[in-house]
Amino acid sequence: MSEQDKPLENIEALYADAANWHVNTGGETIHAKRMPGRFRRLKWMAAASWLAYLLAPYLRWNGTQAILFDVPHRQFHLFALTIWPQDVWLLSLVLIFFAITLFAVTAVAGRVWCGYFCFQTVWADIFTWIEDRMEGDPIQRRKLDAAPWDIRKLRLKLTKHALWLAIAVVTGVTFAGYFSDIYQLWHDYLTLQVPLIGWVVMAAFIFGTYVFAGLMREQVCFWLCPYARIQSVMVDRNSVIPT
Ligand code: SF4
Repeated sequence: MSEQDKPLENIEALYADAANWHVNTGGETIHAKRMPGRFRRLKWMAAASWLAYLLAPYLRWNGTQAILFDVPHRQFHLFALTIWPQDVWLLSLVLIFFAITLFAVTAVAGRVWCGYFCFQTVWADIFTWIEDRMEGDPIQRRKLDAAPWDIRKLRLKLTKHALWLAIAVVTGVTFAGYFSDIYQLWHDYLTLQVPLIGWVVMAAFIFGTYVFAGLMREQVCFWLCPYARIQSVMVDRNSVIPT
């Protein structure tokens, strides 16, 4: 029998041991220390790829928005290409390709998507970077959390949450900008002329970004993410799993 096929020995002992593990189910805020080094640089580079999401709606092509999901006219504009509803199978193929690539990468290299590219990881990383800059390293943050409220604590907390909310607003407007001319959209938001659906999208994104990336962080993976639920079937003993 190969090493891989060998059944786990002392499985009852393992289960009994696991029952004593301490699991943070959301009651405690994890203040992780930010470590410099090669993987940190790789993480910033991967995060920078999300700039494409933030900047793409501002691109112009022949006088119109280069990337636009024009739902009222049932058209998807991608630079010179226009995709009609009957071409949606193309989109399905692209999505299937990305899904299979994701599964293959996970099987070989482990949680590369989760660690470097997932929007939840990237946004939470930026939010905690702001927290780090505002409130200091993990020890200082824990001290600040435990300290009584005074002017300094109020100022630091208000600034941090205001910056988080500003990022949430930009994230929301950017998403809406894929469905409507983004320059007009900014104008409409700033002059409060946006239709109700625009406010609904904005509220959903502010809530989602602020709560998921700012408050819940890794608990989103623990409680909400469907991908986390199915990852275990994609890895085997040859997959790269840092522990
Ligand atoms: S478990 Fe889900 S939410 Fe968490 S990093 Fe992975 S894909 Fe993103």
